[in-house]
Amino acid sequence: MEELIRLALELGFTGVAPMDVSKLRALPEVREMCASDRCRRYGHSWSCPPACGTIEETAERMRACTAGVLVQTTAQLEDEFDIESMTRAQEEHKARFLRLARQARLLYPDCLPLTAGSCTICRSCTYPDRPCRFPGKMMSSMEAYGLLVSEVCKDAGIPYYYGPGTLTYSACILIRG
Ligand code: SF4
Repeated sequence: MEELIRLALELGFTGVAPMDVSKLRALPEVREMCASDRCRRYGHSWSCPPACGTIEETAERMRACTAGVLVQTTAQLEDEFDIESMTRAQEEHKARFLRLARQARLLYPDCLPLTAGSCTICRSCTYPDRPCRFPGKMMSSMEAYGLLVSEVCKDAGIPYYYGPGTLTYSACILIRG
């Protein structure tokens, strides 16, 4: 874990914390939010429900994990309409997490990275017509696995919300075995 935490800090994540993976819960309510398709990714990506597995399957995969690191990128916004800062923070967070996941997969080939939002490695996902182009790089979101991000942050001892004028993106790497 220390190596991953060091890497995460070097990559510029603003929040980094070890996780107690025994507390992770795959909640059907979170999957129901996915199914409401507010993000328009439900049924459009191999990384999202229903393709990423049932709630029982995602819970089973997480149960096989023994450790984890939670990482965050917090943006300071000028106001609630500061779309530019929101977009920049999201892009930075995704790029950082892609690099962290690549390093983590070298250290722990069987690890489970869970990102913020749907997989965006390809401009257009092949789902459902052809197999995933990069199954070894593809990442599901924490929500796709049924995780309530605010609860995961609380259990890891770091805030989910950093106060007015901020927006935070979270992601995690779970280590199996
Ligand atoms: S790697 Fe490409 S094909 Fe696979 S889930 Fe991500 S976007 Fe879709």
